[in-house]
Amino acid sequence: MLLPWHESAATQLAQLIGREKLPHALLITGPAYSGLRRLGHWLQRSLLCLEPQQGRACMECRSCHLLSAGSHPDAYALHPEEDSTVIKVDAVRRLIHDFMLTTTISRYKAALIAPAEQMNVNAANALLKTLEEPLGQAVLILTSANPGRLLPTIRSRCQVVRVEPAQRNVTLQWLATRYSEHTEAQHLSAWQGAGGQPMLAGRYLAEDLLAVRQQVGEDLLALSRDKLAPADVAGRWLDFPLEDIWLWLGQWLMAGVQAQLTGQMPDAGPEAVGEILHAVEAADAEALLGLQRHAMHNRRFLDSPLRQDLLITDWLLKWRQVINTASV
Ligand SMILES: [Zn+2]
Repeated sequence: MLLPWHESAATQLAQLIGREKLPHALLITGPAYSGLRRLGHWLQRSLLCLEPQQGRACMECRSCHLLSAGSHPDAYALHPEEDSTVIKVDAVRRLIHDFMLTTTISRYKAALIAPAEQMNVNAANALLKTLEEPLGQAVLILTSANPGRLLPTIRSRCQVVRVEPAQRNVTLQWLATRYSEHTEAQHLSAWQGAGGQPMLAGRYLAEDLLAVRQQVGEDLLALSRDKLAPADVAGRWLDFPLEDIWLWLGQWLMAGVQAQLTGQMPDAGPEAVGEILHAVEAADAEALLGLQRHAMHNRRFLDSPLRQDLLITDWLLKWRQVINTASV
C-alpha cells in the first residue's frame, strides 16, 4: 500500500503513533502525483488499527478488515464530489458533526481530507472552527500538494509531514515492477515525460500517453515546416488530454532555457521530442519563457468556457514565430 518514496514520511508518522504523540491535525504535503492521498489512507489505517506494530497497521485486526471493506465507523474521508473539484461546506459540517460522536471500535476517530486545498472558502472556515476546539481522540489528516492554497490559519494548526520527491532510480524501479509489461525504454520515457513525477509516469504507461507525446512533438515539427497549419494542429490536439500537452510543452521550453544556461540538454527521449529540443535551444530565452508562462496559463483554463482550440491556435502562432525566428 505504501509507495517506496513514502518510507521516510511513514517512519515519522509511525513514530508519532508509537509514542502516542499525535497532534489533532496533520498535513501531509509533497510533490503532485506522489500518492499523498494513499499515504493519508495508510496513516488513517495505522491510527485506527487495534494491534499496531511499531505504529504501523497490522492488516489483520477487526479494524483493519473493516477499513478494507470501507465500513469502519470511526473512519471518515472527504474528497471532492464526482462531478466537481470542490469540497463543499455541507460535507465539512457533516464531518464535524460525526466527529463529535464517541469512537466505537478504535481508540481514535480519523478523518482524511484530500486534497485539502480543494475545500472552498466556507468549507475551510468551518473546518478552522473545529481546529480551534479540543477534538478529544480525533485526528484530522489533510493532504495537499499545494499547501500555499490552504488558509494560512489552517496550515499553522497542522503538524506538517513532508513526502520528499522520488529519486530517479527509485521511481524507475517502481515503474519496472508495477508496469512490467512495458520496456525499460518506455519506463524511462514515461519518467522523462512526467518530469519525474512517479504516478504521472505510471499514468502515461497505463493510458498509452507516450505515443500522444510523440505525436505532439511531430505536430510541432510539421507546423514549423509549414506542413500543418496552427488550426489543424489545434483540431488534432482537442482529442488528446490537454492538461498533459501543456505540461509537456512547458517542459520542452524550460529544457531549452536550461540548455542555454548550463550548456547541457536534458535527456531528449523520443526522436521528435529531441528535434523540438534542438529547435528551442536555438531560440531566444526570454521568448521561450514567455511561451512557457503562456502554456501554464492555458493549462489553468482547461475547465473554463473559453474555446480550447482558439487558445491552442493562438499559442501555436506564437510558438511558430519564436521558433522560426531562430530558424529550425
Ligand atoms: Zn490492524
